[in-house]
Amino acid sequence: MSNGRVINVDCQCGTKLFKYYKSSRGRLIKLFLEHIRKDYVGVTQNTNLPAICPACQKEIGTIQLINGRLALKLNQGTVKAIRL
Ligand SMILES: [Zn+2]
Repeated sequence: MSNGRVINVDCQCGTKLFKYYKSSRGRLIKLFLEHIRKDYVGVTQNTNLPAICPACQKEIGTIQLINGRLALKLNQGTVKAIRL
């Protein structure tokens, strides 16, 4: 059995940012791009740019290579992770 679940990731301003498949428990610190199910921000299209909230223009995080996989490392306090 998998512990994974799809969660909504919203900006603190309330704007939808991602639907994300989270495969492990615990706090949301990074998003692996391959697990992003819906990308309202556009990070999966252009990994050279920092991720910016389309509504409030706050920087959500930066793309990094983690264990050989592209991931969005979140700036803490910028997003709300909501269980579906
Ligand atoms: Zn925002």
